[in-house]
Amino acid sequence: MTKKVFFKKDSVSIIFNEDSENIYFSTFDYEFRLITSFKNPNLYRRGFDNKVLLGNVFSNEAVFLEENESNKVLNEIYEDAIKVFSSKNFHIEMKAQSDEIIEYFIEKSKNTTFEKVVLDSENFRKLYKPISILPPDQYLAFYIPITEGCSYNKCSFCNLYKDRPFRIKKPEEVSNFLDNITNYFGKSLLTRKGIFLGEGNVFVEKTSDIIIAVRIIKNKLKQNEYITFEPENSFSGFMDTFHTKKELDELIQLRNEGINKIFIGLESGNEKILDKLLQKPLNTSNLITTVNNIKKAGINVGITVLVGVGGKELEKEHINDTIQTLFKLKLDGNDIIYLSPIVEYPNLTYSILMNELGLTRLTSDEIKEQTRIFKESLSPRFPKTKISIYRVDKFVY
Ligand code: SF4
Repeated sequence: MTKKVFFKKDSVSIIFNEDSENIYFSTFDYEFRLITSFKNPNLYRRGFDNKVLLGNVFSNEAVFLEENESNKVLNEIYEDAIKVFSSKNFHIEMKAQSDEIIEYFIEKSKNTTFEKVVLDSENFRKLYKPISILPPDQYLAFYIPITEGCSYNKCSFCNLYKDRPFRIKKPEEVSNFLDNITNYFGKSLLTRKGIFLGEGNVFVEKTSDIIIAVRIIKNKLKQNEYITFEPENSFSGFMDTFHTKKELDELIQLRNEGINKIFIGLESGNEKILDKLLQKPLNTSNLITTVNNIKKAGINVGITVLVGVGGKELEKEHINDTIQTLFKLKLDGNDIIYLSPIVEYPNLTYSILMNELGLTRLTSDEIKEQTRIFKESLSPRFPKTKISIYRVDKFVY
């Protein structure tokens, strides 16, 4: 059967089978790097490092495949796609890219072997330290860490940057790194939307130094023909509200340089939970002032709340105080509230404290119920703000 191919602006989709029972399609970027594949009922998401997250249309759960399973799945998907282009057994359904780029993609697919796919993922791993997390609306961002690690790194529940100390990269390092990753991404940049500056609490860096790094990035990307977003207005990153002190005029400077979204972990509005259980030295009044100043500067925000922290015993305080804190934020339709189910790691202090304090974990149904309560309580107050789930343990880049 002739396969249908959609050469979209940012990616290429191949439909192998349209029959509703056996629907099968895959999407690649223009360097023939697989992004997702759907083989009813399985949805596979692949990272540049060849990690594969397997989801299912019948549930919200997803699991990472073991390396041998990932390789088997990827090998099959790539073989199917390679066959389509080498046998010329396809019909172009959409052509939203130049002939030159389409031709490049087809040639690349014909010359690809699975060994090359593995080598490509190894090259990615040489360039980047493991990318711990991005907020879901930034999964397709171009990830350019100008800092490494987290400036605090002591929250009891957080496992994101335990493997690396915090450091601020020098401008030459940012510049060289950018050259290397731009070279690696090539036409994969056509798929990227926006720039995410890493890593934990990147905005702790001095405003003037952030501006130097941002200008280096803007200058280099200005000349790149595969960037389809406006670097002038596309930067985002994480910020804490306890170490980082940015005055309104600094936030306005950052806005003027192109920072358009800042992500902040509130986690809980209850200061006892924050202090004793999460060990995050966050003061909710400071957070409210900071977020409202960020908004005043014209920058959008993403605020994360942990769902299920403190277990059953502290549930009421957690829900009520978190909602009350969020109600004091001036959020609009450009902002996001993320509800992130707590993920426990047995060796981390949060888990040890939960046990020591005899707190009862919520079941997965109770987590869903708490998520529902948050959504229903927050939506009437923030009718335009997106309220969405954020699974920190189900992330691929
Ligand atoms: S939760 Fe955020 S501030 Fe706390 S250790 Fe993790 S990255 Fe750092």
